[in-house]
Amino acid sequence: MSNSRGALLVVSSPSGAGKTTLCQRLRSEFPRLGYSVSYTTRKPRTGERDGVDYHFVDKSTFAEMVARDEFAEYALVHGNNYGTTTKTVNDALNNGRDLLFDIDFQGGRQLKQKFADDMVLIFVLPPSLDELARRLRGRATDAREVIERRLRVAREELRHYDEYDYVIVNDDLERAYDGMRAIYLATLHRCDRQRRAAQAVLSGQRVLAIDTGGV
Ligand code: ADP
Ligand code: 5GP
Repeated sequence: MSNSRGALLVVSSPSGAGKTTLCQRLRSEFPRLGYSVSYTTRKPRTGERDGVDYHFVDKSTFAEMVARDEFAEYALVHGNNYGTTTKTVNDALNNGRDLLFDIDFQGGRQLKQKFADDMVLIFVLPPSLDELARRLRGRATDAREVIERRLRVAREELRHYDEYDYVIVNDDLERAYDGMRAIYLATLHRCDRQRRAAQAVLSGQRVLAIDTGGV
């Protein structure tokens, strides 16, 4: 990671493991952390807002964006298309802004191929497959067949944990969140992001500890 570039924090897990919950909490604690709003052909769930949770598009719009090579990564997940635009990634990197991605392992892998030096990859594990099923059913945002489909592919998704830098078991939410914020704080304190501070101290200035932008 260079001094002026932001970090790309990818969070993946099987559906229902709790990554949206953990990501929302991190974003509210660190308001300067940006969120990559993906494009998807999935229909919005109750309460989801276009442009905030996702950019909801139809299949032909998505296919045109693929043809114009607008995506840094895209994948078919549970029968729907999802993708992240190259513009979203480059804007964050060039503005030195950290960016959080809630994307699947296929997307994480594609971004890693393109932006390896800028990435921090976090995989969220459910405490068990039974608990994953309970959470997906308890969330009650998807139809029964959608839930069953997501559970069927969960095992396959879980096998990709070792392509990630960090693994968080989301059993107790507080403890899982402690892991998440520790990883982000460690990222902010990486040597290659603190060169400016070190050089300022060497040149006789006083510098402040990292301002996380919290309230
Ligand atoms: P994902 O984004 O990975 O699909 P969500 O964040 O939507 O998962 O979480 C799935 C469901 O599980 C939600 O109803 C959420 O409130 C619940 N949940 C998340 N973390 C925990 C936890 N540690 N313990 C119990 N329930 C949880
Ligand atoms: P959901 O439909 O539950 O919001 O998301 C389903 C899955 O798609 C999740 O694993 C989520 O991380 C993944 N996903 C969301 N956006 C993207 C994206 O832009 N690219 C990829 N590859 N996966 C995504």
